[in-house]
Amino acid sequence: MPVTKIDIPQTVQTLRHGFNSGLTRDLGWRSNQLAAVERMMVENEAAIAEALKADLGKPYGEACTAEIDLVAKDAAHARKNLRRWSKPQRTGTPLAILPGKSFIEAAPYGVTLIIGAWNYPFQLVLAPLVGAIAAGNCAIIKPSELAPHSSALLKQLVERYLDPNAYAVIEGHADVSTALLAQPFDLIFYTGGERVGRIVMEAAAKNLTPVVLELGGQNPCIVDETADLAVAARRIVWGRFLNAGQICVAPDHVYVATSVEARLLEELQKAVTAMFGDDPKQSPDYGRIINARHAARLQALLGDGRAVTGGQADVEDCYVAPTILTEVAPDAPVLREEIFGPILPVLPYQSLDGPLAAINARSPALALYVFTRNKQTADRILAETRSGSATINDTVVLMTNPELPFGGVGASGMGNYHGHYSFKAFSHQRAVLRRGFALDASIRYPPFTQAKLSLLRKMV
Ligand code: NAD
Repeated sequence: MPVTKIDIPQTVQTLRHGFNSGLTRDLGWRSNQLAAVERMMVENEAAIAEALKADLGKPYGEACTAEIDLVAKDAAHARKNLRRWSKPQRTGTPLAILPGKSFIEAAPYGVTLIIGAWNYPFQLVLAPLVGAIAAGNCAIIKPSELAPHSSALLKQLVERYLDPNAYAVIEGHADVSTALLAQPFDLIFYTGGERVGRIVMEAAAKNLTPVVLELGGQNPCIVDETADLAVAARRIVWGRFLNAGQICVAPDHVYVATSVEARLLEELQKAVTAMFGDDPKQSPDYGRIINARHAARLQALLGDGRAVTGGQADVEDCYVAPTILTEVAPDAPVLREEIFGPILPVLPYQSLDGPLAAINARSPALALYVFTRNKQTADRILAETRSGSATINDTVVLMTNPELPFGGVGASGMGNYHGHYSFKAFSHQRAVLRRGFALDASIRYPPFTQAKLSLLRKMV
C-alpha cells in the first residue's frame, strides 16, 4: 500500500529524531545494519529474482549477479572497512596555530533521500543505502514506480530487516517524489534521467541540500583497426544487450575504422547468435523492456538505420530484438536521444578525428569505451575526451570494481559512489582542530605594532 503524501513529513520527522538520538553514530550499530542488508539479499534471493522477472523479465543470472550479489558484496565490503574509513585523518597544523592537533572527521550528513530508477530497482537504491548506513546517515528510499513488484518487495524487506528509526521506503509516482523533494533533507542521492535530474537539483537548491546525481546519456565506443574484433564484438554485445539494453553504462553506438567495419559487423552478429540463439525472444538469457510505452519508443528507433541483425519488436510482449544498425544518419534520433534499449548503431570512420569531434560535440558521457591494441591511440582518446569513466578493451565491468568511483560528469551526473566512494558520498569532511589553553600568544591580538604585525605575517 503506497504511503500517502501526508505520511512524508511524519516519516522524515521519525528519521530526524532517530538521527538526533545519536543512534547512527555507533559503528557497531552501523555494522549490524550492513550485516542486515547482506542477509536481506541472501535470504530473499528467490523473491527478489521473481520480482525482477515480473518487472523486467530479468534473467535469473542477471538478477543474481547485478542486483543480489552486487549489493550483498558491497555491504560486506563496507562492513569490513567501516572502522578504517571512519577513523579521523590526522593532518599537519601550521606554526601559527600550534600547539594544536588537526583532523578530518567523516561526519554523517543526517537524514538523506535516495531516489532510484527502474532498470536495476534493487541495486540502484541499495548500493547508495550501503554508503548511507556506513557513513552513519538515516535514509528514505524512493524506488521507481515503473518497477512495481520490486518497489513493493523493497518496502517489505527494508521494514523487516532494517531499523525503522533510521530507514524507510516510500513508494509512489512522481507526485510522491515531488512531495519528498519539498522536505529539507541533508543530502539527496538521485539516479535517473537528465530531465528529472534537473528537477531534483532545482528542488534541492531551495533547501541548499547537496546532491549526488547519477544520470545517463549516450556512451560512445570506438573500435580501431588493431583491435581483436571477435573479443571486442563479444564484449560490446554483452554490454549492450545486458538487461535488454536498459543500462546506463551500455555502449550506445560504435565508431569503427572503415577498414574493419565489415568484419566487426560479422563478429557482432555471430556474438548475438552465440549468446541469445536464432530467436532471442525465446532465450532465457534475454530480458524485456520495462513497459509497452518504452517498447514502442524503441520500436520507432529501429527504423533509423538498416538492421544487420534483429530489427523486430513485439510491443505487447515488451520485446525488442537485439539489433545492430548500419547506415544511420548523424542526426538520427537513435544517435541524439538516450537509447536505453537493445539497439546498437555502428558508424564507420576514416580518421580518429571524426569520432573525437563527434564525442566532444556532446556533453561528456557516463562511460567511454575504446577497443585497440595501440596504446598511443588509447592514450590519445583519453587525453582528448571527457567522460565519467573510460574502459580500454572491455565494456560495463569497470563498475564492479569497488576501488573505482562510479559517476558522471557534466550532463551524465555529479558526484560518485561504490566502495569507499559511497562512504565518502554520504560523509561531510568535517574539519576539527583541537587546542588546549596553554601558550596563548599575545601576537594575534590587537593592538598591533609594526613589529608585531610583521612577525604575525611571517607566521600565517
Ligand atoms: P524513472 O522514470 O523511474 O525516474 C527515476 C526516479 O525519478 C523515479 O523514482 C521517479 O519516481 C522519479 N521521478 C520521475 N519524475 C519525477 C519528477 N517530475 N519529479 C521528481 N521525481 C521524479 O527513471 P528514468 O529517469 O526513466 O531512468 C532511466 C534513466 O536513468 C536513464 O537516463 C539512465 O541513463 C539513468 N540511469 C543512470 C544510472 C547511473 O548510475 N548513472 C543508473 C541507472 C539509470
